Amino acid sequence: MTEYAAPLRDMQFVLDHLVDLPAIAALPGREDLSAELATAVIEEAGRFANGVLSPLNRRGDVNGARWADGVVTTTPGWIDAYRQFAEGGWNGLVAPTDHGGQNLPRTIATLTEEMWNGSNMAFALCPMLTRGAIEAIELRGSDAIKATYLEKLVSGEWTGTMNLTEPQAGSDLSAVRTRAVPQADGTYRLFGQKIFITYGEHDLTENIIHLVLARTPDAPAGVKGISLFLAPKFVPDADGKPGARNDLICGSIEHKLGIHGSPTCTMDFGRNEGATAWLIGEENRGLEYMFIMMNAARFAVGIQGLGVAERAYQAAVAYADSRVQGVAAGDRSGTKVVIARHPDVRRMLNTMRAQTEAMRAVGTIVGEAMDFAAGASEAGVRAERQAFVDLMIPIVKAWMTEAAIEVTSLAVQVHGGMGFIEETGVAQQFRDARIAAIYEGTTGIQAADLVGRKIARDGGVAARALIARIRETQTQLRAGGAEVQALADRLEDGVVALERLVEFIVTQTASDVSAVLAGSVAILQVFGLVCGGWQLGRSALAAQKALAEGTADAAFYREKLATAEVYAWQLLTRVPGLALSATAGR
Ligand SMILES: Cc1cc2nc3c(=O)[nH]c(=O)nc-3n(C[C@H](O)[C@H](O)[C@H](O)COP(=O)(O)OP(=O)(O)OC[C@H]3O[C@@H](n4cnc5c(N)ncnc54)[C@H](O)[C@@H]3O)c2cc1C
Repeated sequence: MTEYAAPLRDMQFVLDHLVDLPAIAALPGREDLSAELATAVIEEAGRFANGVLSPLNRRGDVNGARWADGVVTTTPGWIDAYRQFAEGGWNGLVAPTDHGGQNLPRTIATLTEEMWNGSNMAFALCPMLTRGAIEAIELRGSDAIKATYLEKLVSGEWTGTMNLTEPQAGSDLSAVRTRAVPQADGTYRLFGQKIFITYGEHDLTENIIHLVLARTPDAPAGVKGISLFLAPKFVPDADGKPGARNDLICGSIEHKLGIHGSPTCTMDFGRNEGATAWLIGEENRGLEYMFIMMNAARFAVGIQGLGVAERAYQAAVAYADSRVQGVAAGDRSGTKVVIARHPDVRRMLNTMRAQTEAMRAVGTIVGEAMDFAAGASEAGVRAERQAFVDLMIPIVKAWMTEAAIEVTSLAVQVHGGMGFIEETGVAQQFRDARIAAIYEGTTGIQAADLVGRKIARDGGVAARALIARIRETQTQLRAGGAEVQALADRLEDGVVALERLVEFIVTQTASDVSAVLAGSVAILQVFGLVCGGWQLGRSALAAQKALAEGTADAAFYREKLATAEVYAWQLLTRVPGLALSATAGR
């Protein structure tokens, strides 16, 4: 079994060539950021991921979370790893310093989060959900709620959860039934059952803070009647310490295909007097607030897909370099070779690598855009970057998680029969990756969001702005000489396909929305594939420049060029077919 090795060289490439760290450092409040600091952070994160989280990954799979009488026991080693994670300040990496965070940009956190997920996805889910809770409280919590909870969540002393799903309310949250009954003292009592709640119960911290969607008695039906509440496992006392046990309990945990180390809990609220809860923001605006958490979480799940894909790729390379089978194509000497020498195995490995590097590049530039959307001084820049982020969230979530399923499946294939055997570890990556395309909104839900809310609603304005940026890179590639012409050609196909698809969405949505929705996943795939090609195109141009200027790392940059070419032939060639099926109608 191969342990995870954080892909620091490629991450450094992304920081050096694809994002603009000096411009981020020039944003108000980011004066402390430097290239040296960014490198130091990812190197330290890499050490933690490789040395602490990765060795626990398989243990979490074979010895997952256990439930008995409402108590959840995590995998042996999890508690200590979590303590180290929190003490290292990783939990509050992007949180503001006034609540004890490190105030580092999302650009860097995108890379550290990839490492947590690549080394141990089941573990990484816990801090991922806490981050979503922190963001919702920061943006909509009252001063009293912020004072009581934020610092403890940022430090990792307590963890956060997201309680949306109920048996009858999955993708369709308008069906949420959990009741919130107002009390004379301004609090509420919650009654209802939530299912599939990640880290709803565990033994890592002394308190767990649940964010819960529920309805007040007079709330209107549907999504306009859902409110967001905060219900702690232990209600904090006057000193802010965990006090009385709240009326909420984990009724059971699920037996799952993957991420066995992550407890997936049924949460019962109000078996007795009702779970004491506080309203976040205003009544009936819960879904709107929850979207704050969901957007952060959707982005994070996309990055999760990337992390697992990278791990599977590394395992496949290691296996292909050691497994001896057959002779090299065309060699009559009979000398046996490692399978990495076979053209079809190389195709698989190269395709995996191209997808993974494309995902990393796309994820990081979306993280960078979040930094500008939140922190740029000019309102125009903030709005433009936010429009890009909004457009890209469903793409990052769905394209990357579907690609992760493909990459982890290819890793099984590269291993042959051994891939189907648990000991090699790739079967776990394949099983773990499968959930990422389902939770936080399935691929179908992301695709509907992309074509509806993100493209049709603004008449295609944000999408066309993106296409113009891709076109710019494509034009540069066209002028870039023979070694990047395959990329220029296939990216041109991609731009043409995107223009047609945006036109299709904008003109057909009013008259035949079913036709648009029937093609929506294919449309989303085209967007993802072309954005990946766009970023590998930028990477190829940067590699050409580095090679022309002379570099000690020429082999790395030549591989970058080769990987971009693989992407053009193996992945961008899918675009015309997908674009055709996307517009086939219902
Ligand atoms: C391991 C795990 C962890 C989870 N963690 C959490 C958590 O922490 N908190 C939480 O609240 N929930 C959590 N969930 C729940 C998860 O978010 C839901 O399972 C997911 O949103 C899908 O809902 P569903 O299972 O009810 O499927 P359904 O909504 O029944 O969907 C079934 C199928 O129908 C499709 N579909 C449904 N509606 C539409 C539509 N309108 N248009 C097109 N296609 C549609 C879906 O794409 C899917 O293919 C978790 C689930 C799992 C398995």
